Amino acid sequence: MPRPMADRAVIVTLTASGDEASAAAGTLIEIPRATRIVRAAGFGFGSILVAALFIPIPIIHLLAPPAIIISGMVLATRQFRATARLLPLHVSCPKCGAMITLGGGIGVRHPDDPLEVRCGDCRRGLTRTIAVA
Ligand SMILES: [Zn+2]
Repeated sequence: MPRPMADRAVIVTLTASGDEASAAAGTLIEIPRATRIVRAAGFGFGSILVAALFIPIPIIHLLAPPAIIISGMVLATRQFRATARLLPLHVSCPKCGAMITLGGGIGVRHPDDPLEVRCGDCRRGLTRTIAVA
């Protein structure tokens, strides 16, 4: 029986270089292996189909199909390795208070590892950590 998709309530913390930190509640969704395989295959085959559309176009057909297939394979690999996905949430910058959007996208490989992010407002480097709520 396939394991159901587990949603975990988490606390997402942004830490600045000093001891300032800010946190917000978030949701981490584990992506089951079967889903990752299907999505990765979708990116792979999808890129081949899109690349085929460019074959009849002169000159562009030399550049676009290989570029599209390579990007498709890169996305497929990233998708396959992403074991969890953080739902988009907003956390205020611990230094300047600007709202920073975290999460979304295709997911992350090691959600428990700290991730370096940058505040779009004050450009300071911040560390994102996810802890089980
Ligand atoms: Zn800031």
